[in-house]
Amino acid sequence: MTGIDRRGFVAGLGALAWPWAARPAPAAGSRWTALGADARMAASPFRWTELGPDAWMVERGGGNSTVLRERGGAVVIDLKLGGIGAALEREVRARVGPVQAVIITHHHADHSEGLPAFPTERSWAHRAAAGRINADQARTTEAARANPARLVDRTYESLARDFDLARNEATEPDVRRFVEWAAAARPEARAPTILVEDRAEIEFGATRLELIHPGPAHTDNDLFVLDRRRGLVITGDLLFHRHHPFIDRDAGATTAGWQRAIDQILAAAPERPKVVPGHGPVTTADALRAQRRYFDVVRELVERARAQGRTRQAITAIPASEFRDWGFGDLWSENLGVLYDEGTGSR
Ligand SMILES: [Zn+2]
Repeated sequence: MTGIDRRGFVAGLGALAWPWAARPAPAAGSRWTALGADARMAASPFRWTELGPDAWMVERGGGNSTVLRERGGAVVIDLKLGGIGAALEREVRARVGPVQAVIITHHHADHSEGLPAFPTERSWAHRAAAGRINADQARTTEAARANPARLVDRTYESLARDFDLARNEATEPDVRRFVEWAAAARPEARAPTILVEDRAEIEFGATRLELIHPGPAHTDNDLFVLDRRRGLVITGDLLFHRHHPFIDRDAGATTAGWQRAIDQILAAAPERPKVVPGHGPVTTADALRAQRRYFDVVRELVERARAQGRTRQAITAIPASEFRDWGFGDLWSENLGVLYDEGTGSR
């Protein structure tokens, strides 16, 4: 997802905001306590899920993040929306340790915008992500200068519609600081430092991470990450698990490319992997096959309707049928339109 300005994705995704301050504290002796959580940590705006030894998925406040504890410090993959990145960095530092490196799976704001909160010179992204992050940065800076209070509101509107995170006294200072930073920023101030072409391998002690660009899919700058030692596949937004996928045609997405990307992930993945999607809970390789099938089902539905002479407008009103319970429901109609446009060769 692209965050606060993305086309066609801002209306009525439902009230996902979670009043986390009202949640009960975890029981003594729980994993939270075992991780050394104090009272402040118990009121975390995030949900941490253990993936295995020294590895966690962190949900809410944007796309899923993955945190690995390595020799030399934490490695964080995907950094959430602007402002919320500061809360993530603080929490990673408290629970896991200082961050030595970050990886951004693609340019969308809910995965990349938290970057300036991470005090590391080592940040990886695909080559084509850099320009798009800079362009988004320039837009945010403009909005922050024109009307900072409005940008704070819009950031929360985006969070409330798309992601599980509430506006309250624990998150608001971070969002306000982000908007102040954005108003003052030079575009290069949050560019990733190490740009990947087709693939890269990074070693952190015993762990080797493989970063692979599968070609245009969800965007033109997707990377997926393999951690074979832990049996992890971190897909970024190449997998929306039980959520309708956002097909960012403006950023070079195609559904055929996306399906090829999924084939590449399945071919490269370790045996019986744990799969961290961009959105939704941790899952298995079956979810990748379901994502691939989603495009087949929608394409077939659209092609059949087109063969019956139905208009684009009529086709985008087809009900979501078997996918009606999936998250990001407003993308269903948009995705019917995308498949229609792909089928007819139009934009
Ligand atoms: Zn995305």
